[in-house]
Amino acid sequence: MTTKGLKHSDLPDPDLHLWAVLLAAGSGSRIAQALAEGTGEAVRKQYLDLHGAPLFWHSARTFARVQAVKGLVFVFPPQDLERMSALVAELDAGEPLGLPWRICAGGARRQDSVRLGLAALPGDCHGVLVHDSARPFATAGLVRRVAEALMEEPLSTGPLSKGAVAVIPGLNVTDTIKTVRPDNTVQDTPDRSVLRAVQTPQGFLLAPLWAAHQRAQAEAWEVTDDAALMERAGHPVAVVPGEEQNVKITTPADLALLSSPMNEAKPPRTGWGYDVHRYLASNETDAKTKSQARPMMLGGIAIPGGPQVIAHSDGDVLLHALTDALLGVACAGDIGQLFPDTDQAFANMPSAVFVTEALRRVRACGYRPAHADLTVVAQVPKLGPHKARMAAQIAQLLELPQACVNVKATTEEGLGFTGEKRGIKAIAVVTALPG
Ligand code: MG
Repeated sequence: MTTKGLKHSDLPDPDLHLWAVLLAAGSGSRIAQALAEGTGEAVRKQYLDLHGAPLFWHSARTFARVQAVKGLVFVFPPQDLERMSALVAELDAGEPLGLPWRICAGGARRQDSVRLGLAALPGDCHGVLVHDSARPFATAGLVRRVAEALMEEPLSTGPLSKGAVAVIPGLNVTDTIKTVRPDNTVQDTPDRSVLRAVQTPQGFLLAPLWAAHQRAQAEAWEVTDDAALMERAGHPVAVVPGEEQNVKITTPADLALLSSPMNEAKPPRTGWGYDVHRYLASNETDAKTKSQARPMMLGGIAIPGGPQVIAHSDGDVLLHALTDALLGVACAGDIGQLFPDTDQAFANMPSAVFVTEALRRVRACGYRPAHADLTVVAQVPKLGPHKARMAAQIAQLLELPQACVNVKATTEEGLGFTGEKRGIKAIAVVTALPG
């Protein structure tokens, strides 16, 4: 790595080209040992599962949500590199980060892992956020705060016209802190008001940080964070407010945090679905259209005496709207993507199959439907007598109590295509909760 690209005139735009280095290279020995005693299997803490994904992936997700962050470098223990490369590729395929990422092997000490992570950054990178993946609860707001301070704070030294050289998040200290002698007697009580407990992500201009790491190598400095290197190299380090929740998973006792309800605060989701089907007109003669006309199915039940519906599957407009609402909850696209009507496999298919598959996807992303509200809009047939049975059938499909499903029917007062009895439409809203 060189300092090339750091002159202000070389910048492609006023924004810093900022990447993040996610450290997941530690041995996590205290926790690994404790787990090995319990289960016979040693797991590094950065690989522990939190809500269905390894700890380090939670940080990756958070950083990927911040616009200023243009890419990620994951640093893993050398012996896990191959396995973790495959895992990151798999996680990214299942839930794309939307950012370029690289993987590299870490070193013996934290500062070695950071240095190796910096060396893996692309050549046009100007700034870096260094984060310990054992802090999975850092929010995108905190990442943004550090990134913005790096880009916008008035600069006292350095080659750029704005932005701090080094930014760290810190919390006021509430405990009184003592320094102690080796014999466990108190030496001193520092003034609490000037103390800060420091967290990650820590943000830096890349060139001065890289230079500080080179000096640390050459002069055998030992530090516990990158800010300490910058301080020692004579750079100012700005402090921005940290976050109480941004704790570091360090000891076996901290594992309880991973299952604490506080950290399961996934918001409820609402999915919305809409669908329209055309009725077969009495004067319609086209053979293909006629072959696609089906007796009316609605909400999974047959509606005797209803107009015929043109459709590829069984033509159940209400279950199609419901399928789209469920796919909305799962952020899984729409029914046309999943079950294309060009695919013969879905011809005459009961629409309950679509609902069941969409429901599977909702569950796969950690949600369960809690309530569904559906509306059918049709001038004909009269649906009032069928509403309760439709609701019961849908409740069964969603595995919900009947009291949590509501089916409404309305007309459009003779207006539009439903009013002219040329077709039918349906709207579905599904509320889902984590779990
Ligand atoms: Mg449809």
